Amino acid sequence: MTITPLDPWIKAKIGQHEGKKLSAEKLYRYQTDRLREVIDYVRRKSPFYRKHLAGVPEDFLSCPKDITRLPFTTEADLRGQCLDMLCVSQSDISRIVTLFSSGSTAAPKRLFFTDEDLELTVDFFHHGMTTLTDPKSRVMIFMPGKKPGSIGDLLKKGLMRMNSVGFAYGPVTDSDDAMDALLKFKPHCLVGLPVQMLGLARHPGKTGIPEGLIKSILLSADYVPASIVAELESSLNVTVYEHYGMTEMGLGGGVQCRHREGYHLREADLFFEVIDPQTGQPQIDGRTGEVVFTTLTRRGMPLVRYRTGDLAKFLQGSCPCGTSLRRMGKVKGRISGAAKRVWTV
Ligand SMILES: [Zn+2]
Repeated sequence: MTITPLDPWIKAKIGQHEGKKLSAEKLYRYQTDRLREVIDYVRRKSPFYRKHLAGVPEDFLSCPKDITRLPFTTEADLRGQCLDMLCVSQSDISRIVTLFSSGSTAAPKRLFFTDEDLELTVDFFHHGMTTLTDPKSRVMIFMPGKKPGSIGDLLKKGLMRMNSVGFAYGPVTDSDDAMDALLKFKPHCLVGLPVQMLGLARHPGKTGIPEGLIKSILLSADYVPASIVAELESSLNVTVYEHYGMTEMGLGGGVQCRHREGYHLREADLFFEVIDPQTGQPQIDGRTGEVVFTTLTRRGMPLVRYRTGDLAKFLQGSCPCGTSLRRMGKVKGRISGAAKRVWTV
């Protein structure tokens, strides 16, 4: 039984010094405090939230569940009012991500991150990657990585902290070139989109990969078909892990542990809910609904009750790894009408 590395990481982040494992009670109290803080912070700093949360009494929140009394934020807010959602001056922003929706003429969504916000993501990538790759390994990243603050760049920084080397090759556009680069770099772990990784697994050049070299693959996408996981595992003799995240979450949201029975979530940085998409009320535990989250630690542009459009559920019962962290089941799709996700470069 290997407990998820997210357990000791979150335990340290919330300042729990006693006990061997993360305490659910401590995490509950930590999340209550952070939620109070972030609501107070956005009301003081952001013109959007001042209006959006007008009429909400001070000190209304005595437990995380009370957050359900607040209105949601949506993609439309990110399209139309992103500057008013900022809580710091633009000179304090080090990364702006612009997300266009494919096949839509709607204004793009914009997300703003400070250096401190990006550091939170690097820290998550560092600890999340220890789930699936050993220190001193080589990790080939088939995700955008040229720009500072891009997913590949932040993942490389996280890997450096475990004495590993990341190579941000970028998305696969030419599979011959990608296979050549892979054979030269000799990675122990691959990170990429499901269909692109499948393309590499079916490429004739894969016979040149030394037996047992690649041990794991991390797939990042909003939906990962089980058939792709099965083919990758049998064809390359690897273990496939899945990551759940989106730019709005600060790229990272959660990752499977070695038992691969749901995602463990970044619960010290993000507070997750699952709601009934029709009524907006909290979904009954164990039923699929829309994933909603609130950022607990971001400073540039915090999001309060952001509706992701993703459909998933909290898994009941505890994970065999032994953590008290919650588990979210695989994303089953998007609610109708929600824009398709787009990866940024
Ligand atoms: Zn687990």
